[in-house]
Amino acid sequence: MGSGKKYKGYKSWEFLEEGKDYKGFKLAKVLNRVPSKKVELSKSEEERVQEIIEKNILVSVHDHTEVFPEDPAEFVEHARVGRPFIGYEGLAASGLDAVFENMMDGTALMYSPDSWHWENVIHQLGMWQADIDHQDFVFIARKVDDIEKAFREGKLAMVISLESPPKIGEDLSKLDVLYGLGVRVMGVVYSKNNEFGSGLADIHDRGLTDLGYSLVERLNKLGVLIDVSHASDKTSLDAIEASKYPVVVTHAGARALWPSRRMKPDEVIHAVAEKKGFFAIEAAPHTTLTKNHPKHSLESVMEHFQYIEKLVGIDYVAFGPDTLFGDHVALHKVFAEYLSIKASSEEGLPPYEKVPFVDGIENPSEFPNIIRWLVKNGYSDSEISKVVGGNVLRVLRTVWK
Ligand SMILES: [Zn+2]
Repeated sequence: MGSGKKYKGYKSWEFLEEGKDYKGFKLAKVLNRVPSKKVELSKSEEERVQEIIEKNILVSVHDHTEVFPEDPAEFVEHARVGRPFIGYEGLAASGLDAVFENMMDGTALMYSPDSWHWENVIHQLGMWQADIDHQDFVFIARKVDDIEKAFREGKLAMVISLESPPKIGEDLSKLDVLYGLGVRVMGVVYSKNNEFGSGLADIHDRGLTDLGYSLVERLNKLGVLIDVSHASDKTSLDAIEASKYPVVVTHAGARALWPSRRMKPDEVIHAVAEKKGFFAIEAAPHTTLTKNHPKHSLESVMEHFQYIEKLVGIDYVAFGPDTLFGDHVALHKVFAEYLSIKASSEEGLPPYEKVPFVDGIENPSEFPNIIRWLVKNGYSDSEISKVVGGNVLRVLRTVWK
């Protein structure tokens, strides 16, 4: 839908009184916070990009639509208070018709790994929707029709995703509750092992547990899309094999290009494609690096895209840039201890240059830059249509039923 987005200027929590009803923060600038560069195109190429944006349903399968405090010293307090400020203005500029939002991953709760409790997750789900329900540009998607509706009406469909289930023990009926509250995508495990399987940060990869098999079965029955982005290699392969429906990776890259655990080996990429899922490319700072582009930018990200597209075909690739509004690099520093990117996981990596931001794909509003790159690098309209949303819709139509 592109430029026809119907955003009327609403700001998060404007119906409450800052300081009285909630603690406010001086937030980062949503647009043009840093000098991130647009891919340079000729006039006719840029026209083609705009036409592609208008004609296609654009979906990001992993981004953070939150605006973070301007001052990194306030990140922990902001996470503790736990009230989201959504970058509506940036989303309107993104051209996106749907975005998968992980309402409570990393920064919201992972600053204390013990906080992944049921009550906290329910709290976050309600808190986000309290703000969203006070405006009419963004709405929660519960079925594929909702995404098509957002495209038609100039709105944005937000797909609630969780990077892993909260602590639910053996009570799988809690998954039904989460579904009822809007959750449509779920990871099996977030980096460190849980009762369902091993995470990518675990030394011993034990694969999917017995309870993990039951989790997969229940998510299939419910129609929740299974994401193995933060699962260990064996857990990923087990979950893909066990699932009746396609399983996806919403944000990662190819380990063949960059030897970090956060990236996936060819075996997992093949398994995702054989199951007719999609593998979406990540762009969070210092993740999808390559030996050719060790200074993280859109070029490094797209090298991962090209590698995976050549490996398994254009029908199984998508984008989950994993960006946010604010200083993502500083956020990683503040929360490094709790995230999958901590220093020990960098051991054995080739040398690379730290950047203050990922040039070309710094925040969710820059999604169109991916399209610019694809146009510049000779991809056809039908190929671009698939990777910017078409492949995702195909999978959702099968899994969400
Ligand atoms: Zn993640």
